[in-house]
Amino acid sequence: MLIQENVALAPLTTMGVGGPARYFVEATSTDEVREAVRYADAHRLPLFILGGGSNLIVSDRGWPGLVLKMAILGINHRHGRGTAYFDAGAGEEWDGFVAATVAHNCAGVECLSGIPGSIGGTPVQNVGAYGQEVAETIDSLVALDLKSGEEQEFDKEDCGFAYRTSVFNTRQRGRYVILRVTFALKHDGEPKMAYRDLQKYFSNRGSARTLANVREAVRQIRASKSMLITPGDEDARSAGSFFKNPVVSAKQFEELKRRAASQNLAIPRYPALDAQKKVPAAWLVEHSGFSKGYGNGAVGISRKHALAIVNRGRATAAEIVAFSDEIRRRVQESWGIQLEPEPVFVG
Ligand SMILES: Cc1cc2nc3c(=O)[nH]c(=O)nc-3n(C[C@H](O)[C@H](O)[C@H](O)COP(=O)(O)OP(=O)(O)OC[C@H]3O[C@@H](n4cnc5c(N)ncnc54)[C@H](O)[C@@H]3O)c2cc1C
Repeated sequence: MLIQENVALAPLTTMGVGGPARYFVEATSTDEVREAVRYADAHRLPLFILGGGSNLIVSDRGWPGLVLKMAILGINHRHGRGTAYFDAGAGEEWDGFVAATVAHNCAGVECLSGIPGSIGGTPVQNVGAYGQEVAETIDSLVALDLKSGEEQEFDKEDCGFAYRTSVFNTRQRGRYVILRVTFALKHDGEPKMAYRDLQKYFSNRGSARTLANVREAVRQIRASKSMLITPGDEDARSAGSFFKNPVVSAKQFEELKRRAASQNLAIPRYPALDAQKKVPAAWLVEHSGFSKGYGNGAVGISRKHALAIVNRGRATAAEIVAFSDEIRRRVQESWGIQLEPEPVFVG
C-alpha cells in the first residue's frame, strides 16, 4: 500500500477546488482499508474517506491528515424469487452500477442514472432523483467501525434514511467506512415514472417505457440541465444541487405564501415536494436575485440549473463558500427561510 504525500485533491472532485491532502492512500480491499486506518491512528492523523468527490467542497488549505480514496471494486448478483440482489464494492462507480442493473433488466435504481460518485457515497446522503432514492433499494451494507475496529452489517432500518440523510452524515458522521453495499432490485420490474419531466419526455416521443429507455431519458434530461458530468460542459463543474429543499411547517408555508403574494408571485407546487412539506429551493434562490447564469467572476450559478453553484475556472473554495453564504443571507432576508447546504465541507 503506497502512502503518498501532498496529493492535490481538486482534480479528484467535480467542483475542482481545494488544496492538497497531507497524506493520501488508495485502498482496494478491506485489508488495505484497515492498514490505512492503522497508519492514521499510529501517526495521529485525521482520516477522511473520499469516494468520487462529487459532493465535496475541499478547503483551500486542503486536508491536514490522511485521505483514504475508496477503491474496493466488484459487482456480484444473485437472484431470489423476483428479487435480484446486487453486492457492489464501495469504490465502484455508481452510474456504471446502474447501467449493469438495467442491462440485467432489474428495476429500482434506473431513475438514479447519471448521478456521479461511488457506490459507497450513495447511502451517506441517501442519494435521490426523479422520484427514487437509494433508501428504497438498499438491502444492507457492510462498514468498518473506526471506533471498535470491527466490521458491522447494517440493515436498511439501521441506516436511518431520510431526505438526503442517514446515520452516516448525521449521528454517526465520520465513524464508519462503508465497504460494500447490497441492493435488492426487482427482476423484470417496471421503471418508475413518477416525475413530470420523465412523463413529458415519453409522451413527446412515444417510445416504449423500458428500463433502458428510462435510463437514457434520465441521462438526457440531466445533460440538458448540466447535471450529468459531460466533458467540456462548464456548467457541470459543480457539486450538484448546492442547497437542500427546505422542509417547512404549515405556519412557515403560510408566511411564504403571504410574502410571495405581496410581490404577485405564487410558490410553485410539486406533488413530490408537497408530500414531504418541502418548498423548491431553486425557486427561493431565483426569487432572491440569483437567476440562472448569475455571476461573471470565477464563481456563479449554472446557466441551466438555479441550484448548482459552479466553478467557472480557477475559483477558490473560499470564493465558493462566500458566494453560497451570500445566497443564504439573501434567501433568509427575502423569504425568512434558512437554506441548508447539501455538499460536505472538507478541512
Ligand atoms: C453534476 C452532479 C449532479 C448530482 N446529482 C445528484 C442527484 O441528483 N441526487 C443526489 O442525491 N446527489 C447528486 N449529486 C451529489 C453526489 O453525486 C452524490 O451525493 C454522490 O452520492 C456522492 O458520492 P461520492 O462517492 O462522490 O462521495 P464524495 O463526494 O467523495 O463524499 C461525500 C461524503 O460521503 C463520504 N463517503 C464517500 N464514500 C464513503 C465510504 N465508502 N464510506 C464512508 N463515507 C464515504 C465522504 O467522506 C463525504 O463525507 C450530484 C453531484 C454532481 C456533481
